[in-house]
Amino acid sequence: LQAPGGKKLADNVKVIVRCRPLNKKEVAVSAAEVVTVEERRGTISVRDPEAPKVFTFDQVYDQKSLQTTVYKESAENIIDAVLEGFNGTIFAYGQTGTGKTFTMTGASCDASLPGIVPQSFEQIFNTITNSQGKQYLVRASYLEIYNEDVRDLLSRDHTRKLAVRENPDTGVYVEDLTSIVVKGTKEITKVMNVGLKNRVVGATNANDQSSRSHSIFMIDIECSEIDEAGEAHLRSGRLNLVDLAGSERQSKTGAAGERLKEGAKINLSLTALGQVIKALVESKSGAHIPYRNSSLTPGLFEFCACPWCTWFVQDSLGGNSKTMMVATIGPADSNFSETMSTLGYAHRAK
Ligand code: ADP
Ligand code: MG
Repeated sequence: LQAPGGKKLADNVKVIVRCRPLNKKEVAVSAAEVVTVEERRGTISVRDPEAPKVFTFDQVYDQKSLQTTVYKESAENIIDAVLEGFNGTIFAYGQTGTGKTFTMTGASCDASLPGIVPQSFEQIFNTITNSQGKQYLVRASYLEIYNEDVRDLLSRDHTRKLAVRENPDTGVYVEDLTSIVVKGTKEITKVMNVGLKNRVVGATNANDQSSRSHSIFMIDIECSEIDEAGEAHLRSGRLNLVDLAGSERQSKTGAAGERLKEGAKINLSLTALGQVIKALVESKSGAHIPYRNSSLTPGLFEFCACPWCTWFVQDSLGGNSKTMMVATIGPADSNFSETMSTLGYAHRAK
């Protein structure tokens, strides 16, 4: 499979790690930093009195890394590929409070720190504006997966559960999912903000819900071009921008009953994702990928038990796509075990 520019797409899954700075609370209690990021070497070491641990990734970003750097170095080529007709997926994975939303969307209190999602809007519409002889159609959807239900964050009734159906020609899709045609950065930003607001409105406790649901901002880009012979060529790519549920063990937050079951599902779906990525990275092209390896766990490799999620993971990690996982961690000693677990997960994915 060839990527634009003749580059090979064999390494179509990348794992990067970003460490946030100590937050105010941690500074106030003079928390010790146990994480050392070496950007040049691509390593993260975690101080452990027994045995220091060192992990290597495709790219790592330290406490001072800039939104623009992470974007330019790690996300930009995925968006380029989508504009050329490939599918691209960027996942943020990590403990709640480590910067998944900061990295994907940006800082809610500071519009001057846009994350990957708004920066991708700029890139998409700049490319379109500067293109010649091509017609583009861009559409956006925004959905949330909460406790195995798929919900439309752009619909007036965003609490309604959507049905997942299969079309023999086009694959699995979410029925009635809103898809909005957007003509520029301003319009698509508005769409994003509507969805972000609905994510919060639907929650009894905002942080609570966002930490337990996955959200996916989808951008479909169709491009048509007339060649010299007068023939029309149509290409279409889809960009999935995913802010995953918090990876922390749910029991730590005092979960019980339904909440605990829900947490187990989240953990299962996240473990599954890591295994799929690992299988893909290790396998040579054409090898069998156990998307649904029922001998391990029933319903493995799904965000949730619905067919859309199963298809989504297959589609995002399949051959015609570029995927990146951004694992986010905190540097404080109090986060030690979650940090180790995130790095272990991300490393297995690699
Ligand atoms: P998550 O989505 O993983 O729960 P958030 O993105 O909400 O975490 O981040 C928690 C807090 O830390 C927010 O106030 C956010 O602005 C801040 N933060 C996260 N990552 C960084 C970073 N790399 N640099 C500066 N502040 C950050
Ligand atoms: Mg978040």
